[in-house]
Amino acid sequence: MSSPIGKSQIDPAAHGGTVLRVDGLVVRYGSRTAVDGVGFTIARGEIIGLLGPNGAGKTTTLNVIEGLRKPIGGSVTVDGIDALRDPLDARARMGVQLQSSGFQPELSIEQLLRLYAGLYGVRMSREDARRALDDTGLGQEAGKRLKGLSGGQAQRFSLLIATIHNPLLLLLDEPTSGLDPQSRRSLWQRIEASRRRGGSILLTTHSMEEAQAVCDRIVIIDHGRLVTTGSPAELITAHREDPRVLAIAHGEPTLEDVFIALTGSDLRD
Ligand code: ATP
Repeated sequence: MSSPIGKSQIDPAAHGGTVLRVDGLVVRYGSRTAVDGVGFTIARGEIIGLLGPNGAGKTTTLNVIEGLRKPIGGSVTVDGIDALRDPLDARARMGVQLQSSGFQPELSIEQLLRLYAGLYGVRMSREDARRALDDTGLGQEAGKRLKGLSGGQAQRFSLLIATIHNPLLLLLDEPTSGLDPQSRRSLWQRIEASRRRGGSILLTTHSMEEAQAVCDRIVIIDHGRLVTTGSPAELITAHREDPRVLAIAHGEPTLEDVFIALTGSDLRD
């Protein structure tokens, strides 16, 4: 399997190692401001967790980066490309996990894999496709349609599609939600493998434990605004004496304690 665009993607040194720069993003749905001035950067090879309570604006932010929604303000730069002006060029450098419903339902997963490889300009023979499915633990399912797979298998398949072109930036919206511990671990190994190939990953999760364990850096947003950013250890150190953290921590403060202290314990819509 060879990727004509894959090789040049993993070389963002020309942009100071910054793969993604989001600045002052503002998105409105009618009169509701969903994202209100959010900004952050991602360096080459970083795994960043975009965290926030329900309705904080995480998916909206990802949608803007992916080019699915236009902001009314701010900028998004991917590998030095203005993603709002040249969304196709920017999109070619990204891998995005599609929902099962986004795939053609009549095709087998092997046919889907070869179809998407073609769309991404990656040459993939039948043998290549079989090998990729084998490596993903889906060799036995090659002839099945996506709806015949378990939740964990479907997630693995959509991650395989998202990484088919060895993207510079992988965007994952709650990649492990609903997965059992085995599937979650397997998915994390695949995300780590993408990072080892030089890719950067921006993901959302509601699991603070997972974020603390796997993310290099955390970006917390709430009500569409940036609350704070830092490595899990930095955030815990910075807030460990905060009375709101002390009030809820059982022993050593965790990222979850800091997250709840900073975003409040009120339930969201
Ligand atoms: P969750 O953790 O629940 O997935 P989120 O952080 O991803 O939440 P978004 O889905 O980005 O949040 O939503 C941000 C805000 O924008 C919320 O108030 C939500 O109700 C609103 N919103 C999202 N999509 C739309 C839409 N298509 N039309 C109108 N309002 C929307």
